[in-house]
Amino acid sequence: MIPVAFDYQRADSAEAALAALAEHGDEAKLLAGGHSLLPMMKLRLAYPTVLVDIGRLNDLSYVRDGGDHVAIGALTRHRDIEIDPMIAEHAPLLARATANVGDPQVRHRGTLGGSLAHADAAADHPSALLALGGSVVVRSADAERVIDAGDLFTGFLESALEPTEMITEIRIPKHTGAGWSFQKFNRRAQDWAIVGVSAQQVNGHAQVALVNMHPTPVRATAVEEALANGASAADAAALAAEGMEPSSDLNASVEYRQHLARVLVGRALTDAGIA
Ligand SMILES: Cc1cc2nc3c(=O)[nH]c(=O)nc-3n(C[C@H](O)[C@H](O)[C@H](O)COP(=O)(O)OP(=O)(O)OC[C@H]3O[C@@H](n4cnc5c(N)ncnc54)[C@H](O)[C@@H]3O)c2cc1C
Repeated sequence: MIPVAFDYQRADSAEAALAALAEHGDEAKLLAGGHSLLPMMKLRLAYPTVLVDIGRLNDLSYVRDGGDHVAIGALTRHRDIEIDPMIAEHAPLLARATANVGDPQVRHRGTLGGSLAHADAAADHPSALLALGGSVVVRSADAERVIDAGDLFTGFLESALEPTEMITEIRIPKHTGAGWSFQKFNRRAQDWAIVGVSAQQVNGHAQVALVNMHPTPVRATAVEEALANGASAADAAALAAEGMEPSSDLNASVEYRQHLARVLVGRALTDAGIA
């Protein structure tokens, strides 16, 4: 389908983009890689009247050492994350999750900020951010704040971002040398996950997040609590579908997703050396 008509503005700085958002409010949408927004517009599930193109803001594409964390610019493309040595050393889970996103074309266009702002429970990055305990730096024209991963995803394709706000940076705590795992079950290598799991050891405990098992990206709290109370990996993994409300679609029934979650969490915990 053809999108509803819109005005196009190319921002030449973050400030210009934020000024445009302040002016147009929820009539406007930021355009980063366009790999989620444009399909939504073609389906007329999104119909902004103003598109603010931030895709050329190269100063928001970087990976930097932030001391206790790795700082990643919101416009950093998936491919640049996949191959970055600092991310490989301190947050290999993020690199692996990114390497599993779509195909090379998608990974050369899509951005980390766009993926997190889109807040899709079926996407791989939100689960990695949750398991890694990351956060996002968010700016509006007159303020800046930091949102922890656990507070970012608020509903189906909904985030805690205001219409006037933009993610500028993603912060990932360093988990150097700690056990981790990313598991993704799909039909073909480039497909979205039918179910996926991110698992990370953090100071001796496990943080586990699920892909496509709930209307929002979500932590597997029943699994984490069982492990914290001394359960074996197998017993904890059996709780992977507790509290989840997965959908049924052409790829999988609810019951099949529940089964996959249990199997994949079990594999992830073993792979990460947890319990
Ligand atoms: C064929 C195909 C296969 C894919 N497969 C996968 C997959 O397997 N796994 C997966 O995780 N993803 C997959 N994706 C999605 C891909 O990762 C997208 O690139 C990503 O979800 C969105 O990033 P983007 O930069 O393209 O964002 P855009 O589409 O430009 O924007 C998405 C949303 O975020 C907002 N936005 C963008 N940047 C910012 C910002 N800095 N601050 C605030 N809001 C912002 C936009 O306004 C829009 O609402 C696939 C996409 C396609 C087209």
